[in-house]
Amino acid sequence: MFGKRMKLFKLLGFEVSVDLSWIVIAVLVTWSLAAGLFPYMNPGLSRQTYWTMGVVGALGLFISIVAHEFCHSLVARQYGMAMKGITLFIFGGVAEMGEEPPTAKAEFMMAIAGPLSSMAIALIFYLIYRGGQTAGWSVPVNGVIYYIAYINGILAAFNLLPAFPLDGGRVLRSILWGAKNNLRWATRVSSTIGSAFGIGLIVLGVLQFISGNVIGGVWMFLIGLFLKSAAQMSYQQLLVRKALEGESVRRFMNATPVTVQDSITVEDLVENYIYKYHYKMFPVMAGDKLAGCITTRQVKEIPREAWSRETIREAASPCSAENTVSPQTDAIKALAMMSQGGVSRLLVVENGRLVGMVTLKDLLDFFSLKVELEEKN
Ligand SMILES: [Zn+2]
Repeated sequence: MFGKRMKLFKLLGFEVSVDLSWIVIAVLVTWSLAAGLFPYMNPGLSRQTYWTMGVVGALGLFISIVAHEFCHSLVARQYGMAMKGITLFIFGGVAEMGEEPPTAKAEFMMAIAGPLSSMAIALIFYLIYRGGQTAGWSVPVNGVIYYIAYINGILAAFNLLPAFPLDGGRVLRSILWGAKNNLRWATRVSSTIGSAFGIGLIVLGVLQFISGNVIGGVWMFLIGLFLKSAAQMSYQQLLVRKALEGESVRRFMNATPVTVQDSITVEDLVENYIYKYHYKMFPVMAGDKLAGCITTRQVKEIPREAWSRETIREAASPCSAENTVSPQTDAIKALAMMSQGGVSRLLVVENGRLVGMVTLKDLLDFFSLKVELEEKN
């Protein structure tokens, strides 16, 4: 369910998608508005009215989150950062950043833009609500408008918690970064605070659960868990990025990779290569020319009884942009390709010739050595 997303629309060059988990949240939000909050805040209306208010309210929440993320993305674009798009997932939205902000100021402006926009929406809707009250608008209409104001206030407040990688934590990091001119230190301090917030929420969630507030407790626990792992992951990502930045694939590649000839049978490949070297992917050669690659995934699709007849030539797939890089490719980019494609090995190709192979293990070994030798503060 997680990670499966649906594209909704494109606006100002940004693609907006929802993670499928969000559909569950949308139903939960509609239900809790229609059956809980609206009857509590505006008693005496019909059930049908509460459900209509619930649907409109949930839609308003959705649009508010998109607006919040849009403001992040627009400011980021101003500072020349590549933004891939906006995805709404279980705990709100994420503006997908392809890279770290270039300067402390850029990060500050980008991080503060989201909560500021939520505050502005909250204020505008509150004024509309007051206007509606004076003008005598109906209770359901005023009720939904008040909810939009209220939920945007909550969005602004929650995101301003100084818990990295929430917006408030990013604001904190940018201030620390600007003060000491040390991004690694700033990230470590703010992600430690973020983790602490996460642990605090987990503990609070457990206490709430024990004292009988089961649903509230579970929510706090989950959000705490999410915050804690997001904080730790952000720091790890920064370390990897710093260590591999500016290094090309050539530095990590194995220049004499194990290759297979396209004339051998699948059986031969399994017995003498896969079981011997335990690699999941082999470059396939026709003579001394690169013909493609073969993976254990492809082998699995061939019926066992055909292994002794079929040759690699028929089973191999051609080289593509997903499994090949050039020696000049940035190591960070190779890492991103591996994670996107779910593979741990890439072919290194120059002018159509195989010049080597780069693996996830080599990249990570280099990274851990570099961190071990250079870690100071
Ligand atoms: Zn935000």
